Amino acid sequence: MTCKGICERYKITKGKKNESWYKKGAKRCTVCTIFIEWEGLWCPCCGYMLRNKPKGNQYKKTLKRSRID
Ligand SMILES: [Zn+2]
Ligand SMILES: [Zn+2]
Repeated sequence: MTCKGICERYKITKGKKNESWYKKGAKRCTVCTIFIEWEGLWCPCCGYMLRNKPKGNQYKKTLKRSRID
């Protein structure tokens, strides 16, 4: 899982608020360290799962808890 430079095509230019980015389908790739406009769940560049929520900690916590139980 490495950046191949493909994400540059979907790169979102700065100048807009983060919240509106996410609403438009913008997602952050932690591998490419970039915000891209992509409807899929995985990065078209490196194939890593994208983050599409500014604060996704709550979902992660519930998922972890259910696994332990
Ligand atoms: Zn990339
Ligand atoms: Zn990526």
